[in-house]
Amino acid sequence: MSDDIGQPVLDDHLHLDPERGRGMDAVDDFARLGGTHLLVVNKPSWHLGVEADDPDDFRAAFETTLDVVADASDRLEGRAWPVLGVHPGLVSRLVDDRGFDPAEARELMAGGLEVAAEYVADGRALALKSGRPHYEVADAVWDASNAVMRRAFELGADHDCAVQLHTEASEDLREVAAWADDAGLEPHRVVKHYAAGRLAGPTPSVMCDKDDLLTACAAGEPFLMETDFVDDPDRPGAVMGPKTVPRRVRWLREEGHAEAVRGAHVDTPERVYGIDTVGTLG
Ligand SMILES: [Zn+2]
Repeated sequence: MSDDIGQPVLDDHLHLDPERGRGMDAVDDFARLGGTHLLVVNKPSWHLGVEADDPDDFRAAFETTLDVVADASDRLEGRAWPVLGVHPGLVSRLVDDRGFDPAEARELMAGGLEVAAEYVADGRALALKSGRPHYEVADAVWDASNAVMRRAFELGADHDCAVQLHTEASEDLREVAAWADDAGLEPHRVVKHYAAGRLAGPTPSVMCDKDDLLTACAAGEPFLMETDFVDDPDRPGAVMGPKTVPRRVRWLREEGHAEAVRGAHVDTPERVYGIDTVGTLG
């Protein structure tokens, strides 16, 4: 459709694994359907065979993501950017399986975020990724996770970058947004990935479920769109495929939500990440 030309289409959160998954084929699928920009989040370190003992051990996962982003950018009309961090589920792996106490886990994970922030500081990464478990954990593990997330907010404030969060399902994360504010990071620069259509506090990155997208459009508040494509051959069908954001964008336009689409792919990415999705096209 001619009115799609020159319109950016951003998937705000996905993973790419050229070694084991579809890698650049997934990027090509996204681009063929009209997708133009990607935020590529590093896979959890242990999925890459890294059992971190030292913050520097996260570098391998980060470097892999930078390589993937460079290759993806070559294939897109726009470009890709890396989002680097430490998956909050690591805390359970460390405490339950590897004999760390919660304080030691906190220290390692915060250290990993500090390494990720170095990449932001030198311009190689766009944003940080943190959060807390989406499942029940012991109080000490929950407290350690919140401390790690608050460290991510401090680093976001220090380096003037957004922080993507993985959290429990929730429509009210105002307390978390207030922690960001306390750390000096504007709450709208905190992004809840895997969000439903409605969220108080951070900016929601809405999964491309049609009902959730309609809810987000009706709310009239800023939102982003994502698939959380995991690119894992062991989990086929676990998530949405890479074509989903461009397909939903087309559908939303047909449903009369062109203005919300522009918000999710131009204005809100600018406001949250400081990226220019129009100026980086072509
Ligand atoms: Zn993800």
